[in-house]
This record gives sequence, structure tokens and C-alpha cells, in this order.
Amino acid sequence: MTVHFPFQNSYSALPDSFFARVAPTPVAAPRLIKLNRPLAVQLGLDPDVLETREGAEILAGKTVPAGADPIAMAYAGHQFGQFVPQLGDGRAVLLGEVIDKDGIRRDIQLKGSGPTPFSRRGDGRAALGPVLREYIVSEAMFALGIPTTRSLAAVVTGEHVIRETALPGAVLTRVASSHIRVGTFQFFAVRRDTDAIRRLADHVVARHYPELSGAERPYHALLGGVVARQADLVARWLLVGFIHGVMNTDNSSISGETIDYGPCAFMDAYNPAQVFSSIDEMGRYAYANQPRIALWNLTRLAECLLPLFSDDQEKAVAEAQDILGAFSETFSDAYQAGLRKKIGLFTERDGDDALIQDLLDAMAKNQADFTLTFRRLGDAAGDPAADDARAQFMDPAAFDEWARRWHERTALEPQSAAERQAAMHAVNPIFIPRNHRIEAVIQAAVNDDNYAPFEELVKVLAKPLEDQPDYAAYADPPLPEQRVLQTFCGT
Ligand code: AMP
Ligand code: MG
Repeated sequence: MTVHFPFQNSYSALPDSFFARVAPTPVAAPRLIKLNRPLAVQLGLDPDVLETREGAEILAGKTVPAGADPIAMAYAGHQFGQFVPQLGDGRAVLLGEVIDKDGIRRDIQLKGSGPTPFSRRGDGRAALGPVLREYIVSEAMFALGIPTTRSLAAVVTGEHVIRETALPGAVLTRVASSHIRVGTFQFFAVRRDTDAIRRLADHVVARHYPELSGAERPYHALLGGVVARQADLVARWLLVGFIHGVMNTDNSSISGETIDYGPCAFMDAYNPAQVFSSIDEMGRYAYANQPRIALWNLTRLAECLLPLFSDDQEKAVAEAQDILGAFSETFSDAYQAGLRKKIGLFTERDGDDALIQDLLDAMAKNQADFTLTFRRLGDAAGDPAADDARAQFMDPAAFDEWARRWHERTALEPQSAAERQAAMHAVNPIFIPRNHRIEAVIQAAVNDDNYAPFEELVKVLAKPLEDQPDYAAYADPPLPEQRVLQTFCGT
């Protein structure tokens, strides 16, 4: 049996300035530790063949499969607000693209596959811990219905990477609808290469926004499309308590998927100012700052597109501002509608926003667990005697007062208690990838070569909305001594 990837590459057919041709660097002793079989099938790949030795060698970058055209993509980016004119794939190689079962073009990328011309000082490698973290969180996001890159496989390389200590090396096979970032446009904008910007924009419209290709002003429409998808994406993040952690423009996807899981985390107790990333000292990427930062990143994208808008700079700027102006409303509409659903409202009334804000304020003040408060509120909607929502509050009286108003409000709607509970349980997950669980999984893998905890966590998170009584403990917040206060980039 040979591994067959039905590659149909389009990015590597773009001009040479878009990438560097570079093969993955072979590794010593690849071992497949996880294959995402359903995703393999979705991509038209044979999971049984991928699980053979030959499959593992491909997923580790030891062998390049037929039809691949491996490249490292060029991009620039603002990192924590500072512009870097050249970043690029420094530890990743795009093998190629396949058309999946739904007709969607998907990139297949090896992350941690060795140095590229964009590596600068790094070794081009990834450590096992961050690879497992990305696998777990990206697949959990997918199960939550949030646009995201996916994880097809994780392989250990049989080599060590040197970070603060020597750690087992690993390669993640990442699948994305593309790896084109805001920073990809910035790479050409800083070089004043308007032809390349136009080529890239045309590629993006055809690939990600085909519905806009006939638009009268396709580049304006493209900016509007990215604004809409990013506004929706960030609203979805907030609604599940997700903190990306490093929303640099090079980690901001043009397709509107969540990309580059580094020091990301889901919060336990609700705290709008929550930051986990060890390198985010100023809280630039704190939970509640994410919408503002998304708009900041989109403004950087708009700047790149100005030459395509009009030769008249002033006119182009005014048009871009107009398009960016839609962000706030698109975001708040999605966010408020999501919150109304989270508290079980079927209709919209004056006073709803205040009711929701008062709950969030009380949660913040009382260190209520974000995930469990909403899930248990669903229980309370079905059965007024259920009091686990109130138990999330340090001062349960703060909840009682709010719950009285909530019951009054829900009583204005005709839906039954059971209907309301079902609607709430369909949007409020019980299982999220909690930090302390991820850490425990990584410790078992790195220290004991034990992947059973990883498998179990991935399995539970695949059904985040379903009560899974055998795994009830996975819903629990950390005990004080289990709390993870910081996360690290450290791939
Ligand atoms: P990230 O933190 O994943 O967004 O990466 C930021 C930039 O640093 C990208 O250009 C990466 O390719 C590069 N980079 C990160 N880690 C490494 C590494 N181990 N070796 C080479 N380049 C790296
Ligand atoms: Mg990145």
C-alpha cells in the first residue's frame, strides 16, 4: 500500500516571491501518536494507510509524498504592535492542498518540520507539549462549532528539541482552509508590491469568498467579508471563554478561522481582564480586548488594500474606514445574540442587554466559573430546584437576586421549561479544554510516554455539549492547587 494524497496545489503556482521552496528535514525515528481518522476520510485520505510506517514517515516529514510541492509561505506581521517586515513559516512546510469531501480546498501543513529560509534564529522544530496542546484545543474548537484550523496527526520525531531543557520533538499535521494571514498582505505592502497584493487578493476571493467575485468592487467586498468573518469569530471566542493569547496580525487568518494555537486558553472563573500568556505582560490580548484587537488587525489589512481601492489616497482611506465601521455592529450583534441564547431567551426585548451584563458583572465579582454557570443555568431553566448555578457564586445571594429577574423575563415567553433547557444545553458546553487537564495530559506524555490521558481528553472534548456521566470530572474547574496561571508559546 502506498500513501496517496490527491494534491491539487494552487498557492505554489503563485509568483516565487510568495514562498520559498523547501522540503521538510528528515527526522530520526518517527512514531505516529495520533491520527484524526474522521478528518483523514474528510480529506480523501486512507486512514489505514496513514497509520502504516510509511504514513508516519510522511506525517513526520521524513518522506515527501508524491504530488506534494513543499513550500514555506512568506508573511510579515505586527507582533504585540511592533511591525516585523519578514516572518514567514519558520518551522512549518505546506505540503500542498487537497479538495475535501465538501469540495473545500484544504492546506496540509507540517508544523515543526525543520528549518526554512524564514527560520531566522529558531530551529524549525516543535516540542511535544505544544503539539498536543494545539491538537486538543483546535479539535475542541471544531467540536464547539467555531471556525478553526484542524489537526490531522501528531508524530513524535525520536529527536529532542532544546528549549529551557531538552524535550521530545514532535510534528503536527495542520489542516486549514488556507494559511493566508493579514501578515501575508503586509509582506507585500511593506515592499510596495501592488501587483502581488492584487494577485493575493484575487487568490483569496476565488478561494475563500467566491460569492464576492462578481461584486462591482471585489477588493472592497473582500475587506468587508474578512471584517464580517473576524467579527463573528471573535464573538464566538468570547461566548465560550476562549483567549487566543497572541493575536498578532500574522496569527490572524483571512479565511476567518482560528489559527496558531500557542499560549491560548479557556478561562475557568469569569474575568474580562484574564490573560494567561507569559509574554503578554501588558494584557494586550486579554479576553475582553480581543474584539478591539481584531479590529486593529483588520485596520492593518485595510491599509494593505488601499492601493487596490483607488489612486486617490484620501478616497481610498474614507472607503476603508466605512467598511471597518461595520465591525462593531457585526460583532455586538453576534455577541449579544449569542449571550441571549446562553441565558435561554428566544426573543429580544428592551432590558435584555442589561440583564445579561448584570449576570456577567456578578459572575466576575463572584469568580463564577464561566462554562459551568451557563450550563447549570440551563439545568435551572428545566428545574427551578436545580441550584448548581448559584453554587458557582462566592456569594450565592448575588445569583438569587439576578435569577428572580431572569425568571420574570423568561416567563414572558411561551416556551416550556424543557424547551428552554434543551435550547440552552445546545449552546452552553459542559466540556471545554481546561488548562489543568491539558497540562496533566502533556505531563503524562512527556514524562511517561503515556498517551492514554490525551486520548481520553480528546474523546470527551469531541462531544462538548453532551453530558457524559462517566467523564463528569472533566467538567470540573481546577482545585486551587491545580490552577494553571500561565501558558507559554514555546513551540
Ligand atoms: P508564532 O509564535 O507561532 O506566531 O510564530 C512567530 C514567528 O516565529 C513565525 O514566523 C514562526 O515561523 C517563527 N518561529 C516560531 N518558532 C520557531 C522555531 N522553533 N523555529 C523557527 N521559527 C520559529
Ligand atoms: Mg504564528
